[in-house]
Amino acid sequence: MPHYRGRFAPTPSGPLHFGSLVAALASYLDARQAGGEWLLRIENIDPPRCVPGAADAIPRQLAAFGLHWDGPVLWQHDRDAAYRTALESLIARQLAYPCSCSRKQWRDYPIYPGWCRDGLSEPDAPAAWRLRSDRGLRPVTWEDRLFGHQHFDPALLGDVVLQRKDGLWAYQLAVVVDDADQGISDVVRGFDLLDNTPWQRALQHALALPVPRYLHLPLILGEGEQKLSKQNHAPPIPEDTEAARPLLHAALAALDQRPPAELATAPVAEQLAWGVTHWSVARIRPQSTRRIAAPSD
Ligand code: GLU
Repeated sequence: MPHYRGRFAPTPSGPLHFGSLVAALASYLDARQAGGEWLLRIENIDPPRCVPGAADAIPRQLAAFGLHWDGPVLWQHDRDAAYRTALESLIARQLAYPCSCSRKQWRDYPIYPGWCRDGLSEPDAPAAWRLRSDRGLRPVTWEDRLFGHQHFDPALLGDVVLQRKDGLWAYQLAVVVDDADQGISDVVRGFDLLDNTPWQRALQHALALPVPRYLHLPLILGEGEQKLSKQNHAPPIPEDTEAARPLLHAALAALDQRPPAELATAPVAEQLAWGVTHWSVARIRPQSTRRIAAPSD
């Protein structure tokens, strides 16, 4: 088996909340049990979405929970040249094209209909770059480690945006280039990203990149059955390691790992050691969402 390398890749659109903790913890335990590395990447390619202070708070929050990463943090704002090289390689093989259409123009279609594939519909308007989904792309299939066989028809995926009209890189391109450059063997993340994976697989294929394994996790729902998210202001997890203890225990429980009750007051290092030894993906119930009473502090 190739060397295991996992990663946690938060967008600093707010500090980490309990849902992010569950994703970080699963990815950490999976890597450490495999004797692998675990990297941290801050996905800050979209400045308007980044909340001041969040990118600095995230490493402190992880450290409070004992979730120590290997090597330097990778910042997406430093990765412009890598994304550009990838886009240029697609353009050179006619797998990417500029598109000036606005969302409003194709709002009656389920996916972008590819109007600009053979030439810009408005030559003087600002243009985004899109991947051609009609050229040599095979059906996208993979075995998710929790949700099993996945199958997507590229014709139904559409021509995903690679670079936006405002020049910002799209998440799909950035994540694929970074996962490949960082040598990521295993992606472990929330179920909300499962339906992004086909685009990422299609892009890996188009760029001839190695393909990681994927494990998507049930999403944690908070009060009112809403996904915990930075956008809906889920409470941040603490930066204090004492306060982290009961939350770490709750996160192990949310992943169906059945930690002993008395572990809830143990130092985070002890809880993580227990977690690494007992980590079992087979125990996680394959549900897309998980309603738990999210601890509030
Ligand atoms: N940056 C994404 C987020 O915070 C996660 C990306 C990924 O794990 O692929 O939702």
